[in-house]
Amino acid sequence: MSTAYITHPDCLLHDTGAGHPECADRLRAIDAQLTAAPPDPLLRHYPAPEATREQLLRIHDADYLEWLESKIPTSGHTYLDPDTPVSPDSLRAARRAAGAVIRGVDLVLGGEVDNAFCAVRPPGHHAERHRAMGFCLYGNLAAGAAHALEQHGLERVAILDFDVHLGNGTEQIFRNDPRVLICNTHQAPLYPNVPCGGRGAASVCAPLPAGAGADEFRQAVERHWLPAVDAFAPQLILVSAGFDAHREETLAGLRLGSSDYRWVSERIVELAARHAAGRIVSALEGGYALTALGRCALTHLRVLMGLD
Ligand SMILES: [Zn+2]
Repeated sequence: MSTAYITHPDCLLHDTGAGHPECADRLRAIDAQLTAAPPDPLLRHYPAPEATREQLLRIHDADYLEWLESKIPTSGHTYLDPDTPVSPDSLRAARRAAGAVIRGVDLVLGGEVDNAFCAVRPPGHHAERHRAMGFCLYGNLAAGAAHALEQHGLERVAILDFDVHLGNGTEQIFRNDPRVLICNTHQAPLYPNVPCGGRGAASVCAPLPAGAGADEFRQAVERHWLPAVDAFAPQLILVSAGFDAHREETLAGLRLGSSDYRWVSERIVELAARHAAGRIVSALEGGYALTALGRCALTHLRVLMGLD
């Protein structure tokens, strides 16, 4: 199997200020794990292009794109919501983050690689069609899904989201769109404190209480995700890969470990093999405990590469 690793130095330039959990060190932590591992010819590095305005307009309103541009400061920070600061280079980073997923979709659907992982920030799954929130500016995975549907003519795309937070933005962007199946596992109650499926999306909901660990998580995936994805038979699987359900995270209260990320990644690879000719594009969402993040992202990547 060959796997694309898509990132860009511009993603480091989105500056959220001192002490903010969504920081450039997150990507450095993943990169450090990758550089410490022996180089593998099956991993192919690609630079993330910037998503174009046309590509972003598939998932966001024009008014929102203009508002976002107007909020970017020439120095320092402005806040899009209480959690979401932006700096002068934030939009460049955000366009690379969405562009990475789009590139991943092109590479995978073009048969150039089997699957792809996008090491990008800011994350995207909280961004709604007309609203930035929860560290997210553009719906990165949503941009990739829309590209697969509109540009490549796919009819069924599944988005699997194992971030500890509900991907409310992805749900809102694809509400009432039968071409997209969204599967969530998330802690509830927790930010963003909206009901799963409450945005009208075709969502599979598996809320988990604080303190839940490997057993509850794996049961939720087996009971809710696997039958739904089998019934939907997606032609492409996108993954909102947040690693913040890890037990070392302080922003949330689930108790997963790296073996759970290996396990869920293996299930996703099996689903993709069964329905989507193995085609997976995964992109980083959350994950703020830096050592755990680096380790778990590498574990996920190694499963995509067929190594673990
Ligand atoms: Zn999260």
